[in-house]
Amino acid sequence: MHFSKKLTYPRALVLPFLITPVESLLQLLSNIISLGIAPLGVLVTAYFIDTALAVVSGGGSPYRIILPLVIIGGFSVYGYMSWPLIEILNKRREIKTRLALRSPLIEKRAKLEYKHVENSDTLDLLKRVWDNPERQLSGIFDNLLQFVLLLGTVVSYAVILLINAPISGVILIVFTIPVLYIASKGGRERYNARRHTTTAQRMSQTISWFLVARDTAAERNMFGYSEYLGKKFEHYYEQFRTYCVRINAKWFAKARASSILLGLLSAIGLFIMAPAVADGSLTVGLFIALQVALFGIIGRIGGAMPRHFESFALQVEFLKDLNRFTELSEVPDAEVLPDDSFEFESLEFKNVTFSYPGTQKLVLNGLTLKMEKGKHYAFVGENGAGKTTLIKLITRLYNNYTGLILLNGRPLQDWPMSRVKACFCAVFQDFARYDITVSENVCIGKINGATPDEVDNALSLAGFNAELPDGKDTLLGKTHDANIDLSGGQWQRLAFARAIASPAPVKILDEPTAALDPVAESQVYAQFEKISRGFTTIYISHRLASAKLADTIFVLNEGKVAEYGNHDTLMERGGMYAEMFTSQQSWYE
Ligand code: ADP
Repeated sequence: MHFSKKLTYPRALVLPFLITPVESLLQLLSNIISLGIAPLGVLVTAYFIDTALAVVSGGGSPYRIILPLVIIGGFSVYGYMSWPLIEILNKRREIKTRLALRSPLIEKRAKLEYKHVENSDTLDLLKRVWDNPERQLSGIFDNLLQFVLLLGTVVSYAVILLINAPISGVILIVFTIPVLYIASKGGRERYNARRHTTTAQRMSQTISWFLVARDTAAERNMFGYSEYLGKKFEHYYEQFRTYCVRINAKWFAKARASSILLGLLSAIGLFIMAPAVADGSLTVGLFIALQVALFGIIGRIGGAMPRHFESFALQVEFLKDLNRFTELSEVPDAEVLPDDSFEFESLEFKNVTFSYPGTQKLVLNGLTLKMEKGKHYAFVGENGAGKTTLIKLITRLYNNYTGLILLNGRPLQDWPMSRVKACFCAVFQDFARYDITVSENVCIGKINGATPDEVDNALSLAGFNAELPDGKDTLLGKTHDANIDLSGGQWQRLAFARAIASPAPVKILDEPTAALDPVAESQVYAQFEKISRGFTTIYISHRLASAKLADTIFVLNEGKVAEYGNHDTLMERGGMYAEMFTSQQSWYE
């Protein structure tokens, strides 16, 4: 399935017939039968009672009651059987919808442009869409069927009443309308209550996670914040809970009150029918059968109707969310693999200015610089100077900049993604930790195929030497039974190995030694120097000792290059770099 067209409400109703034609047709058929059984049930029950009364008073053969009795029995059996059957059909539809939808949904999510991943609005949207979208989608069809069944049943009873006792029929119709109106208002209000309390609900969920998560366990114990956050959790949870209880109670009371009123009026209607029964124009059987049926349906109008209306409102909003999700922009050529090789010559920034989408701050502000083949570059600068942002632009995670970024003299945007991917390989500060084997963690760096020797070589050059039960075939992470986890430094070396395995000629390291101690840091740096000969490297660090050996150091400040040159030139200049270097020197002494 593909999300090429907007999923409107009518299309969402057609979808089940495309994905699960058999189940959907059976469910529709079962609903049509139930809809037919409702008025037929009343008529056959009436016939049965009248016949039984006639037989009892000596009017005819007792065998005459057998047929209506069998039919009523059949209807009852069908009634008992159809609910579990519909449950099964619903589950089957949900599962098959999941099979049809999960892959395209995941694919779409995987291809989302990076700016969406860093945007809180989109993250909220993703959270809503990702809340069992298959059940939400397949529920649309079911909700409408159930709604039509309930409404159709009321209408069919009203028709029987109108034909046999017009005044009671009119009373039923006139008083059903406000009850339906109240149900629809109640449904919408309950839906709005949910939206209203999303923030409180989300906050309570987030905080409850802090209180139980493994990642926060150490700090939880150290700071002892459980009670403090526990109170905060209670506050948000109570806010959410009381609001929902209030709204639900209010509408439950209204719906019940209107149902009771409707019941009373129906009783009056039936009372009005009594003379018709007495003079024989309305049979006793129909009188009793209608009475039973009407009182049965009244409860459901009060109870189920608001839920159907609430579901309608939720489903319409869900479809809006789903369409917004499917319309989110994607990374160009997200799936394309890198070419096997790339001949890098130069990378040039010309007056590049950039702000993150939806923000005003100029993170890069007229940045101009040039990097050439085979040289080693370091970017230094205070936190927030824009160093990581620069890498996001180079790797085309963001394209919304002004100015020019030229790769081998040609605008970066004009290069096919397969070429860009073949040119750059970055180890980000928040590199990923994949819960797969050590070897696979490395192979990802050379997705077109790394040999076992290349993997071994990358691991040894990165200095990865964890003792693991199955060596490089050990499954890592907490998601497996073995529960093998690496230290921060070991994960970092693994991320290094990935970059080493990559054939890209430009290696970018963003604060790669943050999780390492100073001794390990200088070892890694020396090793990296050795292996990166012949490559172009871009090294980002706020630890200047590791930037010292670079051919050119760019000092970034306020989105621009404040100064650049090699270590000696910059020290001689006595500017920002010299000042930072001198103040950091004491760290390493
Ligand atoms: P550095 O790597 O030099 O420490 P960054 O490039 O990470 O700095 O960030 C530069 C500036 O951009 C900072 O002010 C930071 O707050 C802001 N920034 C970073 N990422 C985002 C984002 N996704 N959305 C909005 N602002 C961001």
